Amino acid sequence: MNILIIEDEQKVAAFIKKGLEVNGYHIEVAYDGKIGLSMGKNYTYDLIILDVNLPIINGFDVCRQLRESNIKTPVLMLTALGTLTDKVLGFDIGADDYLVKPFEFEELTARVKALIKRANASLSMQTILKVADLELNSDSKTVTRNGKEIELTAKEFLLLEYLMRNQGKVLSRLDIAEKIWDISFDTGTNVIDLYIFYLRKKIDKDFTPKLIHTQIGMGYILKEK
Ligand code: CA
Repeated sequence: MNILIIEDEQKVAAFIKKGLEVNGYHIEVAYDGKIGLSMGKNYTYDLIILDVNLPIINGFDVCRQLRESNIKTPVLMLTALGTLTDKVLGFDIGADDYLVKPFEFEELTARVKALIKRANASLSMQTILKVADLELNSDSKTVTRNGKEIELTAKEFLLLEYLMRNQGKVLSRLDIAEKIWDISFDTGTNVIDLYIFYLRKKIDKDFTPKLIHTQIGMGYILKEK
């Protein structure tokens, strides 16, 4: 789980980072709104913890611009102000939750867990998945790219659905083997490379941009760029 913290107060940022790392999260920190916005746009996170009072671009504008760029990562806003207007404004610009400073660390971890869980649940409920012009409908079991229907075998479909539900995340061969083939490591992860090859031929070969990427030594990732 990757979390981005955008917070200019170094002590607060370090405190949150340390506490969340203990809980097994991978943390990156940005100390101003401009850098934070750029990281939020260019990298994939499971959650963004966003302070309101930030240098260069304030937290509200960072959140608004992320949403305008179609970044749907859950955002937990931190506000020292705690006034109703700020809270309402926080939700209005697309934040998912807020926490008033100073807060108990347990409160923060509870919110973090809840937000990530909620985001994952809503993603797994979604029946129409889209990445660029690739669209998968898990009800009708159909796949189109650039409006063109693509025929997939049952296994190819499951593999693509798994990649799309986890778009932006690197999936190891082991993850894929366990999830799609119900087999564990050593039993033949070559089959995964073969199916990725089939899938690429069908959904990527004749189209741009390429969506399935190999992460050498790590696995596969489906993403727009
Ligand atoms: Ca601040």
